Amino acid sequence: MFIAIEGGDGTGKTTQVELLCRWLEEQGHVVTRCRDPGGTVLGESIRSILLHRDDIPMCLEAETLLYMAARAQLVRETIRPALAAGKIVVSDRYLLSNIAYQGYGGGLPVEEVRKIGLFATGGLLPDLTVVLDMPVEEALARIDRTLDRLESRGREFLERVRDGFLQEAVRAADRIAVVRADRPVEEVHAAIRRIVESMLVS
Ligand code: C5P
Ligand code: MG
Repeated sequence: MFIAIEGGDGTGKTTQVELLCRWLEEQGHVVTRCRDPGGTVLGESIRSILLHRDDIPMCLEAETLLYMAARAQLVRETIRPALAAGKIVVSDRYLLSNIAYQGYGGGLPVEEVRKIGLFATGGLLPDLTVVLDMPVEEALARIDRTLDRLESRGREFLERVRDGFLQEAVRAADRIAVVRADRPVEEVHAAIRRIVESMLVS
């Protein structure tokens, strides 16, 4: 089974990925955890360009394709082999982030982003995507370090990103679940666990 945890910046994805992986392991599953962009040598190099190289001029199309390239490698090198070995894969972000950020947020045509995304992943989509949702203001306030290059794009951008995640969740309600993230970590974890549990037994 392939699970992606998605959501805007500061919604607590990484914490929830950690808690979910630990719980799945306690249940006896073998878990592969990854982050997107990242998770491979190529992906981590691309990630560091995307997050930190504000000296490199980059158009939105190039930015999008860098995410896609990182993910293409992650799918072939890590995700597909893990799934083939019967493991549960939990990814911190996946294709939906491109649709929300570069599509809804940045203004690239959403259907084009989806199409390129399916090319890059060879059509591999998560069985379950959990979108962590909370008001943008609150999410930004939770980031207790200097914002990286991409996080400092402003509130309106992040409002469009949030709206994008929510619209996509409505569109594909059978495989995208929205979980309210503006509550205690353990409550959010319990909500995610309930959703994953119901998928594991079905
Ligand atoms: O939250 P995470 O560490 O995974 O994301 C790294 C950065 O990349 C964040 O600033 C996020 O806003 C940005 N990002 C993006 N477009 C994506 C995925 C992540 O701008 N498709
Ligand atoms: Mg972040």
